Amino acid sequence: MHTDLVAALDIGGTKIAGALVDGDGAILVRAQRPTPAQQDGGTVMRAVEEVLGDLAASPLWGRARALGIGSAGPVDASAGTVSPVNVPGWRDYPLVERVRAATGNLPVELIGDGVAITAAEHWQGAARGHDNALCMVVSTGVGGGLVLGGRLHPGPTGNAGHIGHISVDLDGDPCPCGARGCVERIASGPNIARRALENGWLPGPDGDTSAAAVAAAARAGHPVAVASFERAAQALAAGIAATATLVEIDIAVIGGGVGKAGDVLFAPLRRSLADYATLSFVRNLAVVPAQMSTDAGLVGAAAAALASGPEVTAAGV
Ligand SMILES: [Zn+2]
Repeated sequence: MHTDLVAALDIGGTKIAGALVDGDGAILVRAQRPTPAQQDGGTVMRAVEEVLGDLAASPLWGRARALGIGSAGPVDASAGTVSPVNVPGWRDYPLVERVRAATGNLPVELIGDGVAITAAEHWQGAARGHDNALCMVVSTGVGGGLVLGGRLHPGPTGNAGHIGHISVDLDGDPCPCGARGCVERIASGPNIARRALENGWLPGPDGDTSAAAVAAAARAGHPVAVASFERAAQALAAGIAATATLVEIDIAVIGGGVGKAGDVLFAPLRRSLADYATLSFVRNLAVVPAQMSTDAGLVGAAAAALASGPEVTAAGV
């Protein structure tokens, strides 16, 4: 049979999505289950197997030649294991082996979710045509991935480009990762909201204290809300400038819920970038919003699977 498709899994703390994807990145078949994140590892794996079962019920399944997994991290692609922070039942969980067994030994490629989003943005989104790019997800956490020399750069364990946990404040607040002053500790959605509340911002009558509500207040000119976004933008700018100085990227793409905040994030981000990205070879760095939809994780996992084998190559990945 002609094997011109790949299967993809996008595994996060709230849902497990699956798809059959063609060589152009079009999603032909979908399946999804909620992630039973607080249950034991076997129960979480059964939800993955149900998603795979739904895909395998499609007459197109026989055309899949490989399977890509983008998973919440940390992942260890070299060991084939995952330890998603928000899925405590999985620690060093042998996901690759279990998925291979559940699919009749399809080749399996595992990458972290930040790397998957990067693959998708590079293939079809805002980083298309850029040989050196940093793509970030700024939401509950802050993740990312790198394209270097025209190719996805996942690193040995699949986590390269994890910009959320580089320190931009040497003596800053402790981060759950164990370090201090991490980008995530300052710029994630929950930290934007926390800082606004600590400094006197009050939610509206609906009681919404999300970063999206802070963004709405910032757009309306509330100075504490504006300041909280400016501080997040400053942390992101310092992290992006450091990355650009180290590996010479020419574009940084920002997705995730906070990335949708628009000018209340991007205007101070571009101003701060001018303060931190000062050397000649990083001064022209572009910072743009992500273009991919919520399918980015699936499309990126598919790109990794396509890039892994000889028969079909995802152009530009
Ligand atoms: Zn950290």
